[in-house]
Amino acid sequence: MSQAQTTAAPHYIKPSIHIFTDFDGTITREDLGDAIFRVFGEFDTYYPRLQRGELTVPEYWKLLCASIKPETTLEEMRSWASKQAADPAFAPFVRFCRDNSIPLTVVSDGFDVYIETVVERELMPILAEGEQSTELLPRYCNRLLRSENGVFTPFFPGRDESCTCFCASCKRNSVLRTIPQNALIIYIGDGYSDFCAAEHADIIFAKKSLAAYCNKNHLPHYPYASFQDVQKIVEGLIARRRLRPRHQAVLKRKLAFETE
Ligand SMILES: [Mg+2]
Ligand SMILES: [Zn+2]
Repeated sequence: MSQAQTTAAPHYIKPSIHIFTDFDGTITREDLGDAIFRVFGEFDTYYPRLQRGELTVPEYWKLLCASIKPETTLEEMRSWASKQAADPAFAPFVRFCRDNSIPLTVVSDGFDVYIETVVERELMPILAEGEQSTELLPRYCNRLLRSENGVFTPFFPGRDESCTCFCASCKRNSVLRTIPQNALIIYIGDGYSDFCAAEHADIIFAKKSLAAYCNKNHLPHYPYASFQDVQKIVEGLIARRRLRPRHQAVLKRKLAFETE
């Protein structure tokens, strides 16, 4: 008989856990979705307009993409992304999730061109032979398309008119589509685009504007600085059998499933 079976309380059924994480400012230290348009587009023209509420997020991304100079190539952007730093505790955290059979998924409102570059680089040292990085770590994000004559346009695979969140691709929907209905959701994030997904999660890890939002809306959450903190807390929750659904999140998920 295994250790787990001998020590488990008779009523405790280990829930199936799914962890979702934001990318910009969470896996990376900097928001690369801002930084890449500072380098290749006209960030300073459009960001203030987004902040003033004059643009929706999809409108903002469309204008930013259109502002990229036509001579720019996706390869140049990938090369820039390959030099951007990530949290050194992220790859060990991916390994921790794999070792514990916990599915981990990236949900981002940023773009594939830099996300794929950084994720592939970070996962390279931990991939087992024949293991696909997309299986180890599925990611949902927007796509940056470039026409032959250098016109850049965004594509939002997760666009959803039914959610009024501050995203072009709704993270809540990416989360809810991925999991069985009774799974326990852990969400890690830092910004505006994380609000709607975090509200539907049982356990929230929050910093910066997501932490402020949680405080304002009385959403219980763990503050964190890096994936090292997240891993320690998740390990503790598993060891102490403290993984329980959050009632308000369960209700919100039920409502979302019904209205979808
Ligand atoms: Mg972020
Ligand atoms: Zn949403």
